[in-house]
Amino acid sequence: MTGGRADALEVRTASVDETRALAAALSAIARPGDLVLLAGDLGAGKTAFVQGFGAGLGVEERITSPTFTLAQQYEGRLRVHHLDVYRLDQLSEVVELGLAELLDDGGVVLIEWGDAILPALPNDYLEVRLTFGEGDDDRSVALAAVGPSWAARRRVLTEAVEPFTGATGRGAGATGAIAGPGAVAGEADHHGAGGC
Ligand code: ADP
Ligand code: MG
Repeated sequence: MTGGRADALEVRTASVDETRALAAALSAIARPGDLVLLAGDLGAGKTAFVQGFGAGLGVEERITSPTFTLAQQYEGRLRVHHLDVYRLDQLSEVVELGLAELLDDGGVVLIEWGDAILPALPNDYLEVRLTFGEGDDDRSVALAAVGPSWAARRRVLTEAVEPFTGATGRGAGATGAIAGPGAVAGEADHHGAGGC
C-alpha cells in the first residue's frame, strides 16, 4: 500500500520459508545481468529473500548479511552478488563498489536497501518491496518490473508468483508444489504401502 508502485504484483507470505520459496521461484526466471532491488524496513525479510533466491540458483553456501563487506559473492547456476547498502550514504561509494562490473559479470545482483541508491542504478530492475503484515510472520511482498528487460518478462513473472497469490499461507493446493511441507507427499503413501 504505502510506497508501492501502482502496477506491482502483490504477494503475501506467512513465514520466512515461504518468502524464501517465493524468492526461489523468482530465481527461476533470472537471467545473467539481472538486478534485483530489495526494499523494506529492518527485519522485513530482505536477506531471507536473497537466501531463497540463492538456494533457487543452487548456492550451497550459507547466505548472510554482508554487513561489513558490502558485497558478497556466491557461486550457483548463476553467480549471486549480494549487496547491502544500508551503511552507504555517498553515491561515490556505490561507484567504488563497481556495480557496473558486477552487472556485467554474467551473474545476478541483489541489493538490499537498493532504493536508497536509485540514482546510481540502471533503470532496469525488479523491485521487491517487503512490508510487515498483521501477524509476526506475515509479510507483504510487492514486485514491480522496472525498465525494458523486466517489463518484457511481466508474464513469466506473473506465472512464477502465481502459486503464492490468491491465498495467504499454504492452504491453497497449488502452493503445495513449491512452498508446502515436503512431508505431505510421504504421508500420503502411508495409507497404501504399509511395507517396511
Ligand atoms: P532484513 O534483511 O530485511 O533486515 P532479514 O531477512 O534479515 O530482514 O530478517 C527477517 C526476519 O523476519 C527473520 O528473523 C525471519 O525469520 C523473520 N520472518 C518472519 N516471518 C517472515 C516472512 N514471512 N518473511 C521473511 N522473514 C520473516
Ligand atoms: Mg538484511
